[in-house]
Amino acid sequence: MTAVIDTHCHLADAKFRGEVDAVIERAAEAGVLQIVSVGAIGSIESDRLTVEIAERHANVFAAVGVHPHDARDCTADRIAALRTLASSKKIVAIGESGLDFHYMHSSREAQEQSLRKHLELAAELELPIVIHCRDAETRLVEIVREIGTPARGGVIHCFTGDTSAAREFVALGFHISFSGILTFKNARAIREAAPTIPDDRVMIETDAPYLAPEPYRGKRNEPAYVVRTLEVLAQLRNIEVAAMGAQVIANASRLFGLPSGSENQ
Ligand SMILES: [Zn+2]
Ligand SMILES: [Zn+2]
Repeated sequence: MTAVIDTHCHLADAKFRGEVDAVIERAAEAGVLQIVSVGAIGSIESDRLTVEIAERHANVFAAVGVHPHDARDCTADRIAALRTLASSKKIVAIGESGLDFHYMHSSREAQEQSLRKHLELAAELELPIVIHCRDAETRLVEIVREIGTPARGGVIHCFTGDTSAAREFVALGFHISFSGILTFKNARAIREAAPTIPDDRVMIETDAPYLAPEPYRGKRNEPAYVVRTLEVLAQLRNIEVAAMGAQVIANASRLFGLPSGSENQ
C-alpha cells in the first residue's frame, strides 16, 4: 500500500454527517496517512466543526477561512472569529479564499476584498494560505503581487489553469495541488501542466465530497479516493507511484508544518 496524503477536503460537509469517523478510517486503510480538512464553506459553523474534527483525530489537520462563493459574508467580525479559531494547535493554514469568476456567487469586489483580508490574516498569523481560483488567474496574480505572498507560502488548490498559469503561481511561491479532475481524460490543459510543476511544489487532494476521480466520477468523493489521483499524477510525471506518494507527503508536510506521518502510526 502506498502512503499518501489528502491535502484538501471538507469533512464538515453535510454529505459526511454521521460518517466522519468511518470516512477517516477508510482513508487510513487506503494509505492516506494524513488529511487537511478545510472549513470555509457556508457559515463559521463549518470552520468550528472542522477544528473539532481535527482535534478528535491525530492525523487530521484544519484550515479555516471564507470561501470566495461566500465572500460577501467576510466581515471584520468573521475575520476576528477566524483569528480566534486559528489558535487551535491543529490549524495549519488559512483558507480557502480566492477568486471564482466562473460561478460569481459573490460579487467581484466582495471576492477581491475577502482575498486581501485572508492574505493579510495568513501573514499576521504566520500560516500558509489555501487559494481557490477559477477563471480568475490574471486577477489573482495581480492581487497577490499587490499584497504579497504570505511568508509561509500557500497552495493553489484544485488547480484548473494551464502550464503558464502554473508557472506564474510557482514563481509567486505557491504549491500546485491537483484534484480528481486530473483523472478526467478531457482535462487536457491540466494534464499537460502536471509534469511541469517542480518536484518540491506538487501536491494532491480530493476536494471531497466534491469532484470524485475516475472511476467514481459523479459519486460522493472521499479522502480514500486520492489514491486514484496519485496514480494518474505518477503516470503523467513518469515516476513510481510510491515515490510520487513520498514526494507529495514531503511537500505537504513542509508547507503545512505537519508532523511526519510515521509519528501518527
Ligand atoms: Zn475550492
Ligand atoms: Zn475546497
